[in-house]
Amino acid sequence: MKQNLLDLDAVALERYFAGLGEKPFRARQLLRWVHQRGAAEFAQMSDLAKGLRGKLEADARVVPPTVVGDSVSADGTRKWLLKVDGANAVEAVFIPEPRRGTLCVSSQAGCTLDCAFCSTGKQGFSRNLTTAEIIGQLWLANRMLGAPAKHGADHRHITNVVMMGMGEPCLNLDNVIPALRLMLDDNAYGLSRRRVTVSTSGVIPGIDRLREECPVALAVSLHAPSDDLRDRLVPVNRRYPLRELMKACRRYLDAAPRDFITFEYVMLDGVNDSEAHARALLGIARQVKCKFNLIPFNPFPGAEFRRSAPERIRRFAEVLARDGLTVTTRRTRGDDVDAACGQLAGDVTDRTRRSAARMPKTVVLTEQRA
Ligand code: SAH
Ligand code: SF4
Repeated sequence: MKQNLLDLDAVALERYFAGLGEKPFRARQLLRWVHQRGAAEFAQMSDLAKGLRGKLEADARVVPPTVVGDSVSADGTRKWLLKVDGANAVEAVFIPEPRRGTLCVSSQAGCTLDCAFCSTGKQGFSRNLTTAEIIGQLWLANRMLGAPAKHGADHRHITNVVMMGMGEPCLNLDNVIPALRLMLDDNAYGLSRRRVTVSTSGVIPGIDRLREECPVALAVSLHAPSDDLRDRLVPVNRRYPLRELMKACRRYLDAAPRDFITFEYVMLDGVNDSEAHARALLGIARQVKCKFNLIPFNPFPGAEFRRSAPERIRRFAEVLARDGLTVTTRRTRGDDVDAACGQLAGDVTDRTRRSAARMPKTVVLTEQRA
């Protein structure tokens, strides 16, 4: 089987080139061709010696997931359905804003953690994505958005990446970390650590490993102010309760590129969205330097929750903000392309259609200050 070069970060690529009897700087050249210029054909790579191109032709390939759906919302949000094998598809979502463009990337096909309000979780787990499948989402999105060649890096489309698509990144760090390193690598995507965010439901060993091996911005899906409620909404809390989670967040801040943790909080009508819940959260907020991001619940077929009314969300945010916390509320975007998601999946095989159905409603990243 040929080596998929999208699976290799800079260090692994140098090792691979050493195995071919090549110098380390060849790895950097190749990274630039593949990740900055979006090249997949070795024949294009004009500054690589012909002999090397021949070796690569014989031994390697550049293979991203297959795009099986591409839809653009009225608000410009663009969503790709990406087939990763015969049975699984994942999604990547691009959210353009006036001064930044954010790509939301998936880390697993499905998820093992079964959060009560998440359609990915409800549908079970299929498998971890490979590094190539993770970085391939960024590689493809860059290509599909068109390289802003005349303007250079300052005008690129994708300025931020969030690991907030399908799956729990902290349960797939073997493959997520090399992908993060490529996002940060100046010879690849060159994003700053502050502009790459990993979102976790609170897998503490993963948070610690990320801190040691590749600290980037961290978002933690909190969703409840007490263990009692969080045990029900985010079952992984039974293993890693709030007290321990807050300690892990504090440890993370020692290495983090930002001096706060973002707490995500899904607003579930009548479940976790009262002013009393907000006041209880203040106790948590005092333990860790943090900002809050409130996410109005996105309903899906069979969901047992409803989205909190805007007024309720506003009052909740106000309790936090009065205490000096920064609170943003995610604005729901891309609804219309979500509706089209199931239709797009219908173009591929039956099994893919099933996995497409497990996709969460688009997670939306536009934020509004409370
Ligand atoms: N597994 C990681 C990252 C993926 S989910 C995590 O849980 O953090 C990204 C965010 O979307 C998480 O905060 C998650 O709780 C939230 N989310 C999941 N299902 C949702 C839904 N139906 N409506 C709104 N937000 C949801
Ligand atoms: Fe998994 Fe995150 Fe969904 Fe929970 S919210 S089931 S951790 S993807």
